[in-house]
Amino acid sequence: MNSYVTHLESALDGTQFPAGQVHTVHQGRPLWVRYNLPAVRRAVTPDTFTSRPPSLWRYRELLPLPLDVEPVTLGEGMTPLLPCPRLGQALGLRRLFIKDESQLPSGSFKSRGMTMAVSMAKHLGLRRLAIPTAGNAGGALAAYGARAGMEVYVFMPQDTPIINQIEAHLAGARVFLVNGLITDCGRIVREGTAKLGWFDVSTLKEPYRLEGKKTMGLELAEQTEYRLPDVILYPTGGGTGLIGMWKAFTELRELGWLRSERLPRLVSCQSEGCAPIVRAFEKGERFAETFANAHTIASGLRVPAAVGDFMMLDAIRASGGCASAGREGRIVEWMRRGMSLEGISICPETAVCFDCLEQLITAGKIDADEEVVVFNTGAAQKYPEVISLNLPRIDKEHPVDYEALVL
Ligand SMILES: *Cc1c(COP(=O)(O)O)cnc(C)c1O
Repeated sequence: MNSYVTHLESALDGTQFPAGQVHTVHQGRPLWVRYNLPAVRRAVTPDTFTSRPPSLWRYRELLPLPLDVEPVTLGEGMTPLLPCPRLGQALGLRRLFIKDESQLPSGSFKSRGMTMAVSMAKHLGLRRLAIPTAGNAGGALAAYGARAGMEVYVFMPQDTPIINQIEAHLAGARVFLVNGLITDCGRIVREGTAKLGWFDVSTLKEPYRLEGKKTMGLELAEQTEYRLPDVILYPTGGGTGLIGMWKAFTELRELGWLRSERLPRLVSCQSEGCAPIVRAFEKGERFAETFANAHTIASGLRVPAAVGDFMMLDAIRASGGCASAGREGRIVEWMRRGMSLEGISICPETAVCFDCLEQLITAGKIDADEEVVVFNTGAAQKYPEVISLNLPRIDKEHPVDYEALVL
């Protein structure tokens, strides 16, 4: 057997599809990849994974790429789970951790999804890939596409962070700026698919980015010795991270590897400027309405409509968690606070999580004793336009007043 995948399955109605073929969506909605978990359990143990090199590819039996196929990889190392006592104290938490995804290739966790999606695309014989992106996904796809020698087409809103424009361009992708939102870019990619025969790598419109993101949950389980934390805060745009993590936990539970009965409560964090999932959660709905006039400087969260909305909302509710909106005006402050207290390069998306965390603690929904993990999905350095600086100057022609320099 060269992979443990048994089939794919519509997340909407359970319709099954054979593995080993190119797949997109079913009735416009995502597919799950399903594995023969009893066979995985016979083949490996948690120790098998731990004994392998520290990369997301160590979880090979729980991934879709056949075991005898070389992945398209840039060396995705496991990301550290960093204790944050100073930030924790500021928030009133005894056990706060950041899982720092900013250390991945391309400076964001989008690399997890793209190493998987591009590996599978190459394996299935696809040559030309296209993506609508809020920023980091385009940069990551361009990099992995270059690694695989493929053609990549990237469509981004015209106000996407400049670093994302540059990284995709440097990686040899054809990059286009669109005077709209990611949903407008998505329509252009969809319509072009028929004409140019490219493959649409949009969030959840192919099944494998989700499997890559799943490794965040597998790593977190391994790093907590299969106990998992009480609460996870996750900045939510298209939702692959949240859904993928939940998929990891349920697969591990089915494997019988988890040491705690309860799974973590998932908190989906969005900016108040674009919070479709928070709205749907609060209204008790399973599908989210498009969020009108979406705006936020946390560009990865600027997703007014997501095809996986119901998968996010199902996971949040099954976990006993919630969806929460962070204040737009606090983003920069939380970036600085997180970074200055712990030295971790906090992206604006994760800054939103800290504002949500503070609100949930105040509201009594998260307890001081609970173990809380916040995912830092990207590096602050990718967002220079978010920060305006006015640093003090020193004139080399004049004597320096050193007393005045003290912090
Ligand atoms: C894409 C992105 C998100 C949102 O991730 P999803 O898994 O698509 O919900 C959050 N943070 C950053 C930095 C991103 O690039």
